[in-house]
Amino acid sequence: MTQSKMFLLLAIAVMVMVFFSFDLHQYLTLESLKSQQAAVESYRSQFPVKAVLIYFLMYITVTGLSLPGATVLTLAGGAVFGLFWGTVIVSFASTLGATLAFLAARFLFRDWIKVRFGARLEAINEGIKRDGPFYLFTLRLVPLFPFFMINLAMGLTALKARTFYWVSQAGMLAGTLVYVNAGTQLAAIDSLGIILSPGLIGSFILLGLFPLLAKKIIDTVTERKLYEGWQKPERFDNNLIVIGAGSGGLVTAYIAAAVNAKVTLIEKHTMGGDCLNTGCVPSKTLIRSAKWLAHLRRAQEFGFNQVTAEFDFANIMDRVHAIINTIAPHDSIERYQALGVDVIQGEAKIITPWEVQVKTTDGIQTLTTRSIVIAAGARPLLPPIPGMELIEPLTSDTIWNLRELPGRLLVLGGGPIGCELAQCFARFGSTVIQIEQLPRLMIREDADVSEAVMTRFKQEGIDVRVEHTAVAFMIENGEKLLIAEFKGETVRIAFDQVLIALGRSANIKGYGVDELGIALSPRQTIATNPFQETTFPNIYAVGDVTGPYQFTHFAAHQAWYAAVNALFGQFKKFRTDYSVIPWSTFTDPEVARVGINEQEASQQGIAYEVVTYGIDDLDRAIADGEAHGFVKVLTRPGKDHILGVTIVGEHAGDLIAEFVLAMKHGIGLNKILGTIHIYPTLSEANKYVAGVWKRAHAPKTLLRWVARYHAWRRGPASLQD
Ligand SMILES: Cc1cc2nc3c(=O)[nH]c(=O)nc-3n(C[C@H](O)[C@H](O)[C@H](O)COP(=O)(O)OP(=O)(O)OC[C@H]3O[C@@H](n4cnc5c(N)ncnc54)[C@H](O)[C@@H]3O)c2cc1C
Repeated sequence: MTQSKMFLLLAIAVMVMVFFSFDLHQYLTLESLKSQQAAVESYRSQFPVKAVLIYFLMYITVTGLSLPGATVLTLAGGAVFGLFWGTVIVSFASTLGATLAFLAARFLFRDWIKVRFGARLEAINEGIKRDGPFYLFTLRLVPLFPFFMINLAMGLTALKARTFYWVSQAGMLAGTLVYVNAGTQLAAIDSLGIILSPGLIGSFILLGLFPLLAKKIIDTVTERKLYEGWQKPERFDNNLIVIGAGSGGLVTAYIAAAVNAKVTLIEKHTMGGDCLNTGCVPSKTLIRSAKWLAHLRRAQEFGFNQVTAEFDFANIMDRVHAIINTIAPHDSIERYQALGVDVIQGEAKIITPWEVQVKTTDGIQTLTTRSIVIAAGARPLLPPIPGMELIEPLTSDTIWNLRELPGRLLVLGGGPIGCELAQCFARFGSTVIQIEQLPRLMIREDADVSEAVMTRFKQEGIDVRVEHTAVAFMIENGEKLLIAEFKGETVRIAFDQVLIALGRSANIKGYGVDELGIALSPRQTIATNPFQETTFPNIYAVGDVTGPYQFTHFAAHQAWYAAVNALFGQFKKFRTDYSVIPWSTFTDPEVARVGINEQEASQQGIAYEVVTYGIDDLDRAIADGEAHGFVKVLTRPGKDHILGVTIVGEHAGDLIAEFVLAMKHGIGLNKILGTIHIYPTLSEANKYVAGVWKRAHAPKTLLRWVARYHAWRRGPASLQD
């Protein structure tokens, strides 16, 4: 705690102590007010300005320090200054006092709360930003809620002080008026309880509901305006139309069909989308062949004299396509039709919020629907680098059509896709040069993770060039060149083929998003609220087209929320749960993560402790010849509560599952340590990292006493050991 905070806390503590030690509260009771009323009134008639000032400061002090007595002071305001002036003075004094309490709570405790509850607080603050003023107004209107608690609690949120002030002043006015008015009739009041009759409390509650009702009305009017200009069909062909049959669209349609909704799934290209055809499946298949080859190269390490592999790259690619074909039935039209989904092979375009036009080989048809889910995916980003048109770049869409291994492959991009494919092609025998603009590969991960991957890449002969910015492509004497900038110098890099892996941009054009005015996020994805709703509450978006993560399992996760909200949102809507999102990059070593890492914890100001277990020490990893990598766990200081885990090593993507489950269900490291893990498996690493945590948090003093106890049990001489 800083000095200024200590000082303020001390000052507040002293003032509160003085108030209670000198029993000042006795002057803020109804009896005392009544007995002093005549004296106070005579003082006010002699010194009117002074009386107002003293009263004003007293009121601010009591409310600012959250001391009891504000109700009696309000009555006094009415009794001494009358209904009009009493209301004006109390209204300002109470709001200023409340704002002081709000600011003090914010100054003293906000940082501490932020550090402790970082991510969870963000979600609350999002809600406060959206609806905070309404909730505050409601709470203020109903004088049953203790005002001092509202002041302190709101101070811990991100609500703006200015907003707090004016909402409080407006919200408290009705209550102030009632109490000040009662104060003008002080003689008739025997107890504070009679001021608030059950009828009056009921009126206040109704008044409290008013802002919520007003919000509902505003929302309804805004929604009406949004849909103005479109004719809503009287009946609908579908409950749901899903655009795109990739991971997001397939799961949405599956869920809708499972609950017997009438759902149409429209796909313009290939069922299964990116993941099956150009993403996860082909890349993991290719990685498998490349890894197999890498193992052969290590034959002597495993006791073989010599093992060589002869291969034709075209056959490797044939295997990739064969695997796609084997998995394709999982995502096929036949399967989904059997599940009860109407599947249309065609291009969809939203023409009104309830109508989708589909262009098929048979012509154009228009379907009506209550709701629409956009799952149109993303495509490789091709930034406008001069000379791009000269070099026929490969992307993750086209690389699967290669039949010959590139001689010199330039990979632009050090993210997951660039890294996975760079290592694959290097293992097959391409000379791979990987360019990254930032200081390291996989920049979202911690520096030690990038280091582990980069070290392996270099060992495997990949020419990793970080801090290189691509400036232009050119062809010189028939040779393709990248002109890049490295620390102010111009670098020329020759290559035969280039893979552009610089990110993926959402598919937002050509199917009605612009025409309807569906809003985009700053990342140029379709903007959605926590319910997956777009600008139009009956049009939802999931997967790569909206983000923020671009993974198959994430698209599927959002799909559940979109489907359920679209079909049952009139009863209950569910907010998408982003609290535990895992992912893995399938390089060798694999990198898997769930929750935050060290760099994110530092950026977000979240306090953490870190424990690491080196997999180089794990029996099974040693036996497998894969003794490398680590499990790193971030925990809340002093607690076994897991904030995030990164695993680098063999099968990291599988190993992380235990931590995903633990985080999702609030299971801490103690429980992981107390769980039997099969020997010898890689999963023991998860238990061992929990052991590292336990040792670091062993109760040292208690253990010293336990040592003494054991010594005593061994006999008198042992105590002197
Ligand atoms: C090389 C690579 C490797 C990857 N590896 C992994 C991995 O290991 N693990 C992982 O989780 N993720 C991985 N991903 C990411 C994953 O593939 C995507 O996150 C996932 O496919 C997104 O699913 P989606 O449903 O949002 O979009 P998509 O799968 O792209 O599906 C969108 C579909 O919509 C269709 N469509 C678009 N517009 C229209 C229209 N107007 N009418 C009709 N149909 C339309 C498209 O044709 C497409 O089929 C990888 C991606 C790549 C490129």
